[in-house]
Amino acid sequence: MNSPYCCPNCKTNRSRFNIIRQEAQAVKLDPQTGNVIEEYNDQPLSPFHLSYNGPSYRVQCASCGLIEDERTFIKFGER
Ligand SMILES: [Zn+2]
Repeated sequence: MNSPYCCPNCKTNRSRFNIIRQEAQAVKLDPQTGNVIEEYNDQPLSPFHLSYNGPSYRVQCASCGLIEDERTFIKFGER
C-alpha cells in the first residue's frame, strides 16, 4: 500500500478504503453433501489440489462499495 488509490467507479474517492484480508482455507468436501471432510493446515495438500495463489487482500471503496484487486485502484490512482 505505497501507491495512491483512486476508485475507478465513483472516481472521486482517494482516501477512504477497506482492506479485506483474504485467508484461504484448503478443504476437502464430500461431493454429495458438501460437508467438510478434511481441512488442510500444515499437512501437504492431496494430489491435484492447487494451493491458493490469489492476492492476499482485496480493496473496497468505502464510498461506493466497489470491491476489486488492489492493482485496479492503483492503476486509477496513477492518473
Ligand atoms: Zn468508489
